Amino acid sequence: MKNKLTQRVLASLIAIITVIGMNFPASAYVFTSYKHKNSTIYYYYDNWVGSRAISYFSTGASAWRAKTTEATVKHYSSSSKTGYDVYMCAGNVSGVTWDGLTQTTHNNSTKYVTSQTVTLNMSKPAWNDNNALKSVIVHEIGHVFGLADNGTTKTIMNGYTYGINSRYGGYGITTP
Ligand SMILES: [Zn+2]
Repeated sequence: MKNKLTQRVLASLIAIITVIGMNFPASAYVFTSYKHKNSTIYYYYDNWVGSRAISYFSTGASAWRAKTTEATVKHYSSSSKTGYDVYMCAGNVSGVTWDGLTQTTHNNSTKYVTSQTVTLNMSKPAWNDNNALKSVIVHEIGHVFGLADNGTTKTIMNGYTYGINSRYGGYGITTP
C-alpha cells in the first residue's frame, strides 16, 4: 500500500541513483533503496495462517517467476523458524486502510534487508475476491523485491487496490 508522500519522493530519488540487478522495465517500476542479499529469497509461514493465505503466497511467487528469473521468491520449507528471508502471514486487522502490507528493515550501510514481514488483511474486501487477492499478494511481493509503490500507474506497483485508477478495481492488474 501507499507510503507517506515523503517516502515516495525519497524512493523515487534513490531509484535514479541506485542500480539494482533485476531486469524489470525501468519505466514501469521504481526501486526503493533496499534489496535482499541473495537473488533467491525464501519466505516462511506458520501453518496456522491457513490454506487460503498459503495458496496465495505460492500464487504470488509463481507470478513473479513468470516475469523474471533474476530474483526468485521461494517457500522456505524447513520447520526451523530461522534462516528465512521473509515472514508471511495473514490476520484480521481492523481500523487500517491496507489490504496487504510489507514491513521492511534494512542495514543502512549495505542496503540489505535485515527483516521483512508480509501481511494479508483478512478484514478487507480483497481477501474474499480471488483476483483482488492475487493482485494484492503480487504487489506485496514486488515490495519484497525492493520495488516501491508507484502511484496510480498501470502497473502491479500501483498502491491502490480499489477505486478510480487503482491497480485492481481500476485496471484489473493481477500480474507483474
Ligand atoms: Zn505497496
